[in-house]
Amino acid sequence: MGRVAQVEAALLEWFRGAARDLPWRRTRDPYAILVSEVMLQQTQVERVVPRYLAWLERWPSAEALAAASTADVIREWQGLGYNRRAVNLQRAARRVAERGWPADLTELPGVGPYTAAAVGNFAFGREELPVDTNVRRVQERTGATFGPAAAQALMDLGAMVCLARVPRCGGCPLADACPSRGRRYEPLRRQSPFEGSFRQRRARTLRLVAEEPRPLRDLDASAVESLRADGLIVVEDERVRLPA
Ligand code: SF4
Repeated sequence: MGRVAQVEAALLEWFRGAARDLPWRRTRDPYAILVSEVMLQQTQVERVVPRYLAWLERWPSAEALAAASTADVIREWQGLGYNRRAVNLQRAARRVAERGWPADLTELPGVGPYTAAAVGNFAFGREELPVDTNVRRVQERTGATFGPAAAQALMDLGAMVCLARVPRCGGCPLADACPSRGRRYEPLRRQSPFEGSFRQRRARTLRLVAEEPRPLRDLDASAVESLRADGLIVVEDERVRLPA
């Protein structure tokens, strides 16, 4: 076995015993996997799990989500953040319900190259390696090349062992072959604080409008404009509401 194959074999062997039990790993349904990947784009795994399960219970298929009211979709998304993802997810579901899954998944709204590769691999069995921050970190530190079969294992290694600042090299299945073994890393640049940010003003404005339609004059004008541009709210006759 060559070095590349050995490194991947060691990783897969570790994964057999250490894999995280995540609900989207128990399905090959492309819709369910798309929902999970869109939620995971900017939200942590632990927060996504219950929301993913509730979402699939409410809208178990692309057709069901396509037929939902956009207002309900936005309400269901509340608390996950980056709400534009909800609107795009429904647009993607409508595209799939009308015309089926496109060969090029990046044609779907809100689906970039990473999400397309993840859905392509996990749902359609395509030979693509989705490279997220965890996967990229392991690739860079080990200098190894991994195939599409290693995707989930790389994600778990990056999330549980090969951590951003202080990797747990002592428990790493790749330590023998890793040139970065034992290194420490500078703290990553932190995301700017949510408190007091424009994101917070947007979230607050959307929450108010999700409760009930509101007069435009009672709301934060720049937040309204930004939410309107993202298709999250509608302004009509000086009143602001969720899309129908
Ligand atoms: S040995 Fe350390 S740096 Fe290398 S892959 Fe494993 S955890 Fe990451």
